[in-house]
Amino acid sequence: MTKKLQSIRGMRDIFGEDLAIHDAILFIVSKTVRYYGYEHFETPIIEYSDVFHKTLGETSDIVHKETYTFEDRDGRYITLRPEFTSAVVRAFIENSFETHLQYKLFSYGPLFRHERPQRGRYRQFYQFNCEFINARTHFSDFETIALAYQILKELDLLEYIKLEINTLGDEESRLAYKQVLREYFFDNINLLTEDAASKIDKNPLRILDTKNESDLAIAKNAPKIEDYLNTESKDYYLNLLSLLKRNKINFVQNPKLVRGLDYYTHTVFEFTTNALGAQNALIAGGRYDKLIKLMGGSDIPAIGFAGGIDRIADLMKELSINNRSIIKEKNVAIIAITEEDYEYASNLGYKLRNYGIAVSIEYGVVFKKQLQRADKGGATFVIFIGEDERKNAVLKVRNMLNGNEEMMREDVLYEYLTQHLALNI
Ligand code: AMP
Repeated sequence: MTKKLQSIRGMRDIFGEDLAIHDAILFIVSKTVRYYGYEHFETPIIEYSDVFHKTLGETSDIVHKETYTFEDRDGRYITLRPEFTSAVVRAFIENSFETHLQYKLFSYGPLFRHERPQRGRYRQFYQFNCEFINARTHFSDFETIALAYQILKELDLLEYIKLEINTLGDEESRLAYKQVLREYFFDNINLLTEDAASKIDKNPLRILDTKNESDLAIAKNAPKIEDYLNTESKDYYLNLLSLLKRNKINFVQNPKLVRGLDYYTHTVFEFTTNALGAQNALIAGGRYDKLIKLMGGSDIPAIGFAGGIDRIADLMKELSINNRSIIKEKNVAIIAITEEDYEYASNLGYKLRNYGIAVSIEYGVVFKKQLQRADKGGATFVIFIGEDERKNAVLKVRNMLNGNEEMMREDVLYEYLTQHLALNI
C-alpha cells in the first residue's frame, strides 16, 4: 500500500474560518499602514543565502539552526526567507533608492524557520512587516510603535496586549555593556548550561532572554544596560518614553528584551499577550541603524517591526473575535427553498453582485443548513425565495443583526440593500 501523503511537519493548510481571520487581519493592517504613509513592497521568497547569513549574525538562532538552505541546480546556496528585514534592505540597496529620502515599506507573506513546532510556532508562518528607512529621530521610533499599537487597536486587541520596551543603546554603549556581561557570565560559567556558555563570547546578550530556568536564574542578576548607556543613548531612550507617555501608549520596560538578531541598536520592543501560553509575542521590532551599511549600502538608520499573523489569528480565535466583527464586510445570502427557485435566485444574485454587493447562494443544500451557513458566514441580510415570492416578485428579507423581516419588491430591494449596507448597520 502506498504511504498516505502528508504536509511537511510544522507546516499546515489554512482554510475556512482560520483563513478568513488571516484575511481580515491583513485587510485591517493594509488599511492602517496607509494612514502612516507606507507603500506596498514585495521581495522574492528565496534569496541567496548570504543575504540572511551575513546579516542576521552567525550566532543568531535563526542562522545557526533554523534556516531552510539548499544548493540550487547551479550550485549556489539559496535560503527560504526566515525574516523580511534583510531581504527588504537587500532590495533597497540593489534598486538604488535615494539615500536622502524617507521610505516606508510594507510587506506580508510566508516565512520559513526550522524551529521545533508547537502551539503558535510553525515552520511556515505568515507575517506583516513594516520598515521605516531613513528614520533619523526618536519621533520615527514613536511613529513606528504607534503604528503597531494602532494595528492592535483596530483589531480590538488592546486590552489583551502589553507593550514591552528596552534600549540596546548605540554601538559604543552596546560594546561596553557586552564586555561587562561577558565578564559576569564568565564568572558564573559553571552554573550555565552548555548552550548559554557557548554564547558568552560572541553574543552574551542572547543569554538574557533565555527560556531555560537555570540560565534565567543567573541572567536575573546580570548587570543592566541602563547603567552602561552613554548620554546620547540615554537621552534618545528617555525622549521616546516620554513621547509614548504623552500619547497615552502604555508600556513596561523590560531590560531583558534583547531580540534574537545581532543587528539591533537603540530601541527594541515587543507587543505580547498572556492569553496564548509560551509563544506570547505578537509583534516585535526595533531599530537597526547599522544594517544597511553592513549590507553594502550607505550609512542610513532605520527601524521596523513584524507581526505574526498566525499568532494574532490564534489570539482572536481564543477570544472568539470573529471575522464578521472585525472586517465589517456586509453581505447577502439568497436562500432558494426548492429546486424550482434556483433560476430566480441565480438571476437575483447576478443583479445584486452587479450592484457591488457580496452574495452567497448554495444550491443543493437543505434549507436549514443554508440558513446556518448564512449566519456563520456573516451575512447581514438573508433573502428567501419560494414559490410565492417568485410569482409575485415580492421577496422576504431578514435583517440578521436584529431579526426583523420585511416583504419587499425587487426594485425597492436594490436601493434598500445598497443604502443599508453602505450605512454599515
Ligand atoms: P521575529 O521575526 O522573530 O521578530 O518575529 C516577529 C513575530 O512573528 C513574532 O512576534 C511572532 O508573532 C511571529 N513569529 C515568529 N516566529 C514564528 C513561528 N515560528 N511561528 C509563528 N509565528 C512566528
